[in-house]
Amino acid sequence: MAELIDGKQLAKQINTKTKTEVAALKEIGITPKLVVVIVGGDAASEIYVRSKHRKAEQIGIISEIKALPETTTQAELLAVIEALNQDDQVHGILVQSPLPSQIDELAITRAIAPTKDVDGFHPENVGKLYTNAQLDFPVSCTPKGIMTMLEAYHVPVAGKHAVIVGRSNIVGRPMAALLLNASATVTVVHSKTADMMAYTRDADILVVATGIAHLIKAADVKPGATVIDVGMDRDENGKLTGDVDFDGVKEVAGLITPVPGGVGPMTIATLMQQTVELAKWSETRGTK
Ligand code: NAP
Repeated sequence: MAELIDGKQLAKQINTKTKTEVAALKEIGITPKLVVVIVGGDAASEIYVRSKHRKAEQIGIISEIKALPETTTQAELLAVIEALNQDDQVHGILVQSPLPSQIDELAITRAIAPTKDVDGFHPENVGKLYTNAQLDFPVSCTPKGIMTMLEAYHVPVAGKHAVIVGRSNIVGRPMAALLLNASATVTVVHSKTADMMAYTRDADILVVATGIAHLIKAADVKPGATVIDVGMDRDENGKLTGDVDFDGVKEVAGLITPVPGGVGPMTIATLMQQTVELAKWSETRGTK
């Protein structure tokens, strides 16, 4: 029976630490500020944005939500981002996905100053991640939070076989880079992979990020493996569930994250942590 990786509890500890760091920064005249830009009225996005806002306020980070209408043009959104780039009081900028169809998401990602790119999606930051640059730069919060979980639960990474199911820019690819940088042997599988479960069954660390509810079953997991479920799916009753069949897989795995209460809270805690890091780095910029 697997040990549970309690993301909720770990996120709480991280948030407490981040709150202390914010208080210390305020003592020296720096108040970390996060601005979340949301375009249009996507219901799920509004929930995510509000929960980030609440968490930031609890921690002492100044949080601002810029809600723009569905009809916002690309030029208008770029102008908002440019103003935030120029504002010295703003340390982190996040543009919530999805964006309306008239907006080119990649152009928006590129427009955010890399030093304020709290999501870590800017190509400059992705390049630093993929070249394992020994510099301070932001990294996609979900995979960064997963690395924190692995460390907190003393999961050996170097020399282990890590298999990532999914190759998105938000989760799969940055996860692969982080695990490779930590000296794992990394395999990335996806919807076109032949005999995918042959890889998952060999994984010491299995990270699943597909958006397919209960894709991974007990027979797809190596006994004793660490299983990280990124999925946020709905089951037939509309209940939140993961990409991993938790009830079956927990009988085989060594460690497992639940959904909810695993990766989700860690993503938000990492976002808060990274906002504070950006504020600190903004002070030391030019010396790194
Ligand atoms: P995405 O952009 O839709 O990417 C899904 C990936 O899964 C793609 O690479 C796709 O392969 C692969 N895939 C789909 N069906 C597959 C199958 N049957 N077998 C193997 N691979 C398959 O999704 P995402 O943004 O990475 O998110 C994935 C899940 O994580 C979603 O449920 C999302 O809500 C959740 N999520 C949670 C958090 C959190 O904080 N908890 C954060 C981000 C995302 P192809 O590339 O070949 O199409």
